[in-house]
Amino acid sequence: MTSTSAVFSALAPYGWDQAWADLFAPHAAEGLLPGRVVRVDRGQCDVITADGVLRADTAFVTPHDPLRVVCTGDWVAVEPGGNPRYVRSYLPRRTAFVRSTSSKRSEGQILAANVDHAVVAVSLAVDLDLGRVERFLALAWESGAQPVVVLSKADLVPDPMTLAHLVRDVETAAPGVPVLTVSALHGEGLDTLVALVGAGTSVLLGQSGAGKSTLANALLGEDVMDVRAARDVDGKGRHTTTTRNLLALPGGGVLIDTPGLRGVGLWDAETGVGQVFAEIEELARECRFHDCAHDTEPGCAVTAAVGTGRLPVRRLESYRKLVRENQWIVAKTDARARAELRRDWKRKGAEGRAAMQAKRGHLR
Ligand code: GDP
Ligand code: ZN
Repeated sequence: MTSTSAVFSALAPYGWDQAWADLFAPHAAEGLLPGRVVRVDRGQCDVITADGVLRADTAFVTPHDPLRVVCTGDWVAVEPGGNPRYVRSYLPRRTAFVRSTSSKRSEGQILAANVDHAVVAVSLAVDLDLGRVERFLALAWESGAQPVVVLSKADLVPDPMTLAHLVRDVETAAPGVPVLTVSALHGEGLDTLVALVGAGTSVLLGQSGAGKSTLANALLGEDVMDVRAARDVDGKGRHTTTTRNLLALPGGGVLIDTPGLRGVGLWDAETGVGQVFAEIEELARECRFHDCAHDTEPGCAVTAAVGTGRLPVRRLESYRKLVRENQWIVAKTDARARAELRRDWKRKGAEGRAAMQAKRGHLR
């Protein structure tokens, strides 16, 4: 059996710490090996352990609930041998990225577990879309990870004043979130990012073209594809070439990069939305009505703040949009909420029709 210190030295670069070791103790007592999932593929997963990368079957830990399926980033207990070798359990997740339902499936899908930093890449090569930044931040907060915004391709904004303005704009849309500027091309600002992701596990989010692959390569210090094609030993002792979606960074820290996370679209992010718009939620506590929609209600502190210029109207509109969108996503997953929304639409429809009839009545 592998000693505790051997486990620590082998797995610490992948995020193993005393807290994980404590949680793992009962599994260790059963002779199971700790490891972190670096890839999942059709009922199989690759797990990095003190004995190298092992392929294991997830049949034991694949319940009906798709959120409880093993995913990249999970810490698991694997059998020391067997053909197939099985994952017997996984440790409780600290954080989780969940994709909301696509139209076909009615449950969420787990994309990555135990992520500490969500790096949101935003390209300075195109006009800033703060609404989109806010959306990614909501997704990040929702997962439990700490977001950080990286304004990429900073070399394309040579004027320092302009760059400072852009940073400030993003900061107003991102309370509690560090905003960095990076030029991967010139290697500028990378030190700050390397230090930030140096502890814990990170993911890169952002639109296609935002510079995520370039940042990943810069963080890895070599071509990702070469690292990815690392030759691993499978459960049968053969050398195989596998794709890893979880990589230890040379400067410390771990990077998770899965195709699913990259193409992220709609997520459930109710609490996340609240955190992105913390100042609005704070103002809302001063509203006369606790269920104030910050629309035409009297005594609304939010619309009052817009009136005095304290709150940019763009922020309020973006907030409304994300709240609405989130309600729609939740409604798709939750039959009861769906029924309620439908009743609401019917009522609104009836009110609309009544209003129309009243108008027509006037015209007659
Ligand atoms: P991804 O789709 O988010 O992975 O974006 P990529 O990393 O593929 O980058 C998209 C494009 O932006 C590529 O053509 C990169 O060469 C370019 N790019 C990335 N980082 C920088 C940078 O720091 N400066 C400049 N000028 N271009 C960059
Ligand atoms: Zn209000």
